[in-house]
Amino acid sequence: MDIFAKLQNIVTPLRISNDPAELYCYSSDASYIKGTPDYVVMPSTTAEVSEIVKLAQKHHIPIVARGAGTGLAGGAVPLCGGIVLDMSRMNRIIDIDIRNLQVLVEPGLIHADLNRALEPHGFFFPPDPGSSEMCTLGGLIANRGSGMRSVKYGTVTDYVLDLEVVMPDGAVIRTGGRVMKSASGYDLTALMIGSEGTLGIITGARLKIHPLPEARAAVLAHFNELEAAGRTVSAIMEKGIVPSACELMDSTTIKAVNTYDANLNIPDCEAMLLIEVDGAPCSVESGAARVAECCRELGAFDVTIAYSEPEMKELWAARRLAGAAVTRLNPGKTRVYIGEDIAVPLSAIPEMLREIRNISDRHGLNIMTYGHAGDGNLHTGMAIDTLDEEQWEVLEKTADDIHLAALRLNGTVSGEHGIGSARGMYMIKEHGGALDVMIAIKQALDPHNIMNPQKVGLE
Ligand SMILES: Cc1cc2nc3c(=O)[nH]c(=O)nc-3n(C[C@H](O)[C@H](O)[C@H](O)COP(=O)(O)OP(=O)(O)OC[C@H]3O[C@@H](n4cnc5c(N)ncnc54)[C@H](O)[C@@H]3O)c2cc1C
Repeated sequence: MDIFAKLQNIVTPLRISNDPAELYCYSSDASYIKGTPDYVVMPSTTAEVSEIVKLAQKHHIPIVARGAGTGLAGGAVPLCGGIVLDMSRMNRIIDIDIRNLQVLVEPGLIHADLNRALEPHGFFFPPDPGSSEMCTLGGLIANRGSGMRSVKYGTVTDYVLDLEVVMPDGAVIRTGGRVMKSASGYDLTALMIGSEGTLGIITGARLKIHPLPEARAAVLAHFNELEAAGRTVSAIMEKGIVPSACELMDSTTIKAVNTYDANLNIPDCEAMLLIEVDGAPCSVESGAARVAECCRELGAFDVTIAYSEPEMKELWAARRLAGAAVTRLNPGKTRVYIGEDIAVPLSAIPEMLREIRNISDRHGLNIMTYGHAGDGNLHTGMAIDTLDEEQWEVLEKTADDIHLAALRLNGTVSGEHGIGSARGMYMIKEHGGALDVMIAIKQALDPHNIMNPQKVGLE
């Protein structure tokens, strides 16, 4: 049977390929995981997606949805070959409905494009991944992603009202509606969010939007003790302040960032916290002052408050460079995203930071720690010579220790990047019997396991 010819009956020839050079471009995402598809198809309508899925179902061909391929866990990598559905052509904003505080979009829309379209209306879509300029909303929803502002505004879960989904048999369903709340039936929207393309293909999303805050202020604080920075995060929350961002950088990250851009001139210290507050101008001013006071009480020095956009941009500059600076401490080595996304309860942040230090010393591997400390989500950055097997072994052991430490502290192996095929081995440890329920759901909806097989630790 000629699958390629059958696919050509569904989409025009320019939107399908089995050229090895093209397939190679779809054989990885931003992680280290690899797998080559047999076909790449770029649908432009829900009807096309449904027909492609029906074909895949009939012939039991694996089918993997791909947004922009910025995932860090191998989620969009076709481990078993088959069809990669490149969703990037379905990228329209169908409706901006300010009266009902919602938008209707296609899944291939780039995250930042939505916020650019909302800004003139005085609104925004709050979940804000660092990959905003690259990633798609479909990928963000499928990975249950978030970003710096989830400490105040929540994750993508809090903003999805309704999804259009092509199920594994090709049927098109709607999981929710236009209403702001509903107590009607099982919450299939929640089931699809974070399902990483293993239960269906998202072809449309109705999303809640939020008014842009009137004012913002940022507080930058330096600490001579790493754990004091960790303690400050929960102390701020205990005072009843809800920051709109609360980012941490440890001394290794600070060194790397200073190496990347010496003009930043960050004082040599153990940790740095960048805390942002937003809202009405008067509450922002008092909130920023209280945050600064709290930082000083817990031992911070060089505490700066910025109210204007240019000043805030300057304070944020170092944090924005953190990801890119990883290799600066390890010239000639490559950053590998592994063990990079744990999250722990706020009270466990100081202990997790200490654990990461110990793990780094034990394995003799530089680990940069930075991230969204305000919601307990810590990113680690490690770089190795990827051609050196021994270094791979050390890296894998280091990542394993980081994951296990997070689980010991009642945390999770992924705060926002997802499980994909990088973290499946921890699912039983993290979820116990609940993993059996996930497997049962997967088997009931996708008995032939065509939807993104070998992901999320489901098999
Ligand atoms: C520099 C950098 C910074 C990052 N910062 C953040 C961050 O701050 N927060 C964060 O959450 N993530 C972050 N990420 C990770 C990544 O950008 C997110 O996971 C993003 O949401 C993935 O979107 P994507 O379009 O690239 O999806 P892809 O990587 O293409 O796919 C991700 C998963 O979603 C599935 N999928 C994609 N589209 C669909 C669809 N339409 N229907 C069903 N399943 C689908 C895929 O099968 C796969 O399992 C970062 C990545 C990089 C490289």
